[in-house]
Amino acid sequence: MEATDLSEIPASVPGQTITTEVVIIGAGPCGLFQVFELGLLGIKAHLVDSLAHPGGQCSELYPEKPIYDIPALPVCGAQELVDRLMKQIEPFHPTFHLGQEVIEFSKKEDGRFLVRTALGTTFDAGAVVIAAGVGSFQPRRIGIEGSEAHEGSSLHYRVKNSSTLHDQHLVIFGGGDSALDWTLELLPKARSVTLVHRRAEFRAAPASVSKMQEHVSAGRMRMFEALPQSFLLEDGKIRGVNVKAKDGTVHALSADQVLVFFGLHPKLGPIAEWGMELEKKALKVDTEKFQTTLPGVFAVGDINTYPGKKKLILSGFHEAALAAFAIQHHLYPAKKQFLQYTTTSPIMHQRLGVPD
Ligand SMILES: Cc1cc2nc3c(=O)[nH]c(=O)nc-3n(C[C@H](O)[C@H](O)[C@H](O)COP(=O)(O)OP(=O)(O)OC[C@H]3O[C@@H](n4cnc5c(N)ncnc54)[C@H](O)[C@@H]3O)c2cc1C
Repeated sequence: MEATDLSEIPASVPGQTITTEVVIIGAGPCGLFQVFELGLLGIKAHLVDSLAHPGGQCSELYPEKPIYDIPALPVCGAQELVDRLMKQIEPFHPTFHLGQEVIEFSKKEDGRFLVRTALGTTFDAGAVVIAAGVGSFQPRRIGIEGSEAHEGSSLHYRVKNSSTLHDQHLVIFGGGDSALDWTLELLPKARSVTLVHRRAEFRAAPASVSKMQEHVSAGRMRMFEALPQSFLLEDGKIRGVNVKAKDGTVHALSADQVLVFFGLHPKLGPIAEWGMELEKKALKVDTEKFQTTLPGVFAVGDINTYPGKKKLILSGFHEAALAAFAIQHHLYPAKKQFLQYTTTSPIMHQRLGVPD
């Protein structure tokens, strides 16, 4: 299976106002399959995800692991499943709005919904599907008081434009692939690089760890086994960071820019405040439409709950199929609904781009 080429996903321009039939919050496996089920019924959808790539937990938490309980696929890698879903929804050309967390939601007087992202993209949608899984993945923060004030200027949890880090003194925190990849990538371009990790063992790919250790031995960079303690500030700007080693000694490291890669953790976030009924941090839905307690807002996948709910991809796929019919009825109540087989339906073939 060919991997998803992210450069081929049409980039959305943040800040636009978009009128759409449906907006799907969350591009995990269930959000992706929701596009397919809506597409079969001739309904277009926009997808928003706070991650920079589609796939949710499958891509973020266990891309290399095999899944054994997807019907008709005896074994399928988690990222492979995402790639297959991306291929399956290609005929419906959904627009992806990646790297954007949905932070605002409201119902308009005309019954439609306003959904706004942290980058200012606004959707005016006839129906909303929340496929937000276990929540929006957020970077684990450095844990130094007042650090928020420096985020985006000299403290970074993701690299947006690496050229701004060239010719700078960098301190990089973390022991996983992101920390090691950026250390190796930026070392030839930065003025200096210091890697700080809380322990001697790294989670990153062994080849990257060996390369980094070679650079340390050759004196091209430094590596400290320590924890962040405080910033060294000058006129309110970060000029360095104090780190505390296991033996209690504190080292002052010069830094123009501090990069932190402590991994991501899911946070239910603003969804909890949108007025729909929750049970144990999940949205209550019925099992006919998978509609939340707010008509027009549907929830599929790990984010929902109902009697007997099992947080499995398979369950989310079934929920998406039924939700699609309910969404069609919500948007076009006068339209007669037919169950059509993809095998034989000419209209579905047309939508799928399959020649009859
Ligand atoms: C290690 C591991 C192994 C697993 N193995 C299996 C298995 O073998 N079989 C199986 O069926 N299931 C398995 N699961 C569970 C499976 O991964 C989940 O059931 C599935 O990912 C749920 O899909 P989803 O689309 O509902 O949510 P998710 O995959 O969680 O995706 C939700 C997406 O919504 C985004 N999001 C959330 N809030 C917002 C917001 N406010 N704005 C923008 N975006 C937002 C998130 O960034 C995320 O990308 C496993 C899980 C783990 C962790």
